[in-house]
Amino acid sequence: MTSSAVVVGSGPNGLAAAVALADAGVRVTLLESAESVGGGLRSGDFLVDGVTHDICSAAHPMLQASPFFHRYRDRLSGLGLSFASPDYDMVHVLDDARSATLFSDLDQMHRGIPDRGDAERWRSGCERLAANADAVAGDFLRPVFGVPSSPRSFAEFGLKAALPASWTWRRYSSDEARALFAGIAAHAFTPLSWPGSSAPGFLIAVVGHRYGWPVAVGGSQSIADAMLRLFLSLGGEFVPGTLVESYEEIQDADVVMLDTSVEAARKILGPRLPSRVERAWSRFRRGPGVAKVDYVIDGDVPWISEPARSAGTVHLGGRAEEVAAAESECWKGRLPDSPFTLVGQQYLADPSRSYVGGGRRLNPLWSYSHVPAGWGGDEKACFELVTSQIERYAPGFRDTIVEFKASPPSRVEEYNPNNIGGDISGGANDLVQLIKRPRVSSDPYFTGVPGVFLCSSSTAPGAGVHFMCGANAARGALKHLHLA
Ligand SMILES: Cc1cc2nc3c(=O)[nH]c(=O)nc-3n(C[C@H](O)[C@H](O)[C@H](O)COP(=O)(O)OP(=O)(O)OC[C@H]3O[C@@H](n4cnc5c(N)ncnc54)[C@H](O)[C@@H]3O)c2cc1C
Repeated sequence: MTSSAVVVGSGPNGLAAAVALADAGVRVTLLESAESVGGGLRSGDFLVDGVTHDICSAAHPMLQASPFFHRYRDRLSGLGLSFASPDYDMVHVLDDARSATLFSDLDQMHRGIPDRGDAERWRSGCERLAANADAVAGDFLRPVFGVPSSPRSFAEFGLKAALPASWTWRRYSSDEARALFAGIAAHAFTPLSWPGSSAPGFLIAVVGHRYGWPVAVGGSQSIADAMLRLFLSLGGEFVPGTLVESYEEIQDADVVMLDTSVEAARKILGPRLPSRVERAWSRFRRGPGVAKVDYVIDGDVPWISEPARSAGTVHLGGRAEEVAAAESECWKGRLPDSPFTLVGQQYLADPSRSYVGGGRRLNPLWSYSHVPAGWGGDEKACFELVTSQIERYAPGFRDTIVEFKASPPSRVEEYNPNNIGGDISGGANDLVQLIKRPRVSSDPYFTGVPGVFLCSSSTAPGAGVHFMCGANAARGALKHLHLA
């Protein structure tokens, strides 16, 4: 008899689990509380018709290195998925118009970092790992206790990733190189003086130097749409508008995959959770949050920094020490004066996201600032916080704004229940939780309830669009069904 599965949540990890199971012949039903598929992959033109905003994820270096994506890449491109890259992958702007540029091509880094010695140090520090980016990704996009496929890259990456980011940037002498690394490391949302704070950023840097920071043509939603098409072609069923709140709603399936927060999984499984898992999950910690603003702008952002005008992603936060101070404040629950802020100009690589008409070109601009978990600012405060950061590096920016939507942490969570307190990482990325995510076990995805697996970014390897939490969890589910 055919085995059955229910997947709760259609973010990238729920979709990956659903595709992996359906591809193995399991009859899969995918339940989603929202009205549309995708979780952190959704996009839409909710402000001005024809102007497409990425509501959550924007740039996709991690996806390009994902073993799951490699397996399905050809089928997904046959289903309409394609990517485009900006001229400059990422630019970090310092206050006085100085900036550093991240080029995927390491040989171009001398153009991105003005100090020749630092440019060479950056190149040589990443060169071997970037050449082995697929092996590095294969070994680190999973629980860390596996047998490495490439012991040399594993050891080199592991030693570098274990360092505090503030030690790593001290290799460099110029403000530009130090700030460039600090900004990438800030993707971890942890104090940058902590051991392991180099890890998430260093992984993004390594795969970025192999694949760049491309965006999905048509919006990140195109990734979810192609995955859903693939899933349906494998015989899967998708049921949107269904919030799962209790185990009774899903217990008839042979396996259950939860693309939910740890907190929601605890509620759904309730007293069925073995006490050792309940104890481990109750200690799971959340990280800081984000305050997001989506803008429609008339024309381009008037950046002082010339390279920022051609960058897919712009990091705002000043020198490395300033980025570190802001991240540390957020971690302590205090709003920094100058929060680390990311700006996405996906339309530069993918002009299909803009509206052109009436002599105007209306472009979508994506931006968020790091704020303390659950920061209580309202929409006006959120708009002011993010807008004043951009204005600081691009005087006149306010005059380009046609429409906007501000989402403080409460809205970010309301939009997607996985983003508790505005935390978009599925839980804090401190060293302990990078290693035991969400707990130490030979199968950390297994909830202890027979046939039930957690597969969201609260599991290893954590946040980002790479599908691997879902793909790794599905492997355990297939073993449970004796299909692997
Ligand atoms: C503003 C923002 C910017 C980001 N930028 C990037 C980026 O540029 N690049 C990148 O790689 N990553 C980025 N991320 C992170 C990335 O989006 C997430 O790490 C990723 O989406 C996590 O995938 P997931 O499948 O674990 O969960 P999610 O994408 O959060 O999806 C979970 C889904 O499950 C549904 N769900 C939850 N509980 C239930 C329930 N009880 N019943 C039914 N359905 C339920 C939710 O509605 C949601 O659709 C960003 C995230 C945000 C929010």
